[in-house]
Amino acid sequence: MTDTSTDHAALLLEAVRLAQANRANGGRPFGAVIACEGRAVARAVNGIVQSHDPTSHAEMEAIREASRALRTPDLSGCVVYASGHPCPMCLAALVIGKVKAVYYAFDNADAEPYGMSSDATYRALRLTLERPPLPLIRLDVGVSADSVYGGG
Ligand SMILES: [Zn+2]
Repeated sequence: MTDTSTDHAALLLEAVRLAQANRANGGRPFGAVIACEGRAVARAVNGIVQSHDPTSHAEMEAIREASRALRTPDLSGCVVYASGHPCPMCLAALVIGKVKAVYYAFDNADAEPYGMSSDATYRALRLTLERPPLPLIRLDVGVSADSVYGGG
């Protein structure tokens, strides 16, 4: 698989579909896929409702799965596809794992009306994303925020 924008959109759409499926199963609407050297090695969803673990964000679970699958904590050849903009905890884990880039479908403004934004955490930690530590790329996958977070 080559590194094209079509591949990025397809993998990001998969993360969004995971988010929708997780919500349908009673979980929070967040999903993530990790692709390394163009191959998807991890797919995960937010597990907070099931596990009560506040760190069980989709990106964290995907990092755990990817590093187990690759048998290394070094994810420098990997790209993360997250349905929502990463929160500060996940962003820190992505930097520690040396992830190359993050593609996401919905930002905090999209998530805010549904109470799903991590903006308050960024503010509590006094963090700014003016100069993000890795490429954070928003990509439209043709799915509405309401169909993931809300009733539509
Ligand atoms: Zn997070």
